[in-house]
Amino acid sequence: MKIAVYPGSFDPVTYGHLDIIRRASSMFDELIVAVMCNSAKTPLFTLDERVKMLKESVKDLSNVRIESFSGLLIDYCKENDIHIVIRGLRAITDFEYELQIAQTNKELSHDQVDTVFLTTNLKYSYLSSSVVKEIASYKGDITPCVSDFVADALYKKYESK
Ligand code: ADP
Repeated sequence: MKIAVYPGSFDPVTYGHLDIIRRASSMFDELIVAVMCNSAKTPLFTLDERVKMLKESVKDLSNVRIESFSGLLIDYCKENDIHIVIRGLRAITDFEYELQIAQTNKELSHDQVDTVFLTTNLKYSYLSSSVVKEIASYKGDITPCVSDFVADALYKKYESK
């Protein structure tokens, strides 16, 4: 059985992430979307909130599972016997960083973990969680970027701040 993991912060999940999830899920028997609990970043949404929004977003995809993890991705891969990592590429600016991480993971895992890159769907190439948060913080229209329930959660977050 071919299992892949798609790790990320997903703070919050956007249509760009969902496009990668859908496409990756059709290439593998099982796709685990692993939400990072990263102490170096201060996310807007709690880990629990990010996991819930992802679960709601992928409920029609039977071979996609949402999990969370902390620590090194390669340790998570080893514990779960996963050898393929999925990452999305939007632009050349993503490439340099992603290449370095992919090579580090390959090296640290003694060639046990490879990264597969999926290029962005052009209509979402401008999209990032940060851009969506910025627009939402000024009450701008984010309906082209995220699902309605994610948009509601974003507006509520900024209202309460
Ligand atoms: P991270 O904090 O690890 O960068 P993100 O949640 O921002 O996590 O992104 C997770 C992955 O999804 C990354 O590989 C990123 O390049 C990819 N991604 C984010 N937005 C898009 C998009 N609009 N199109 C394609 N891939 C994307």
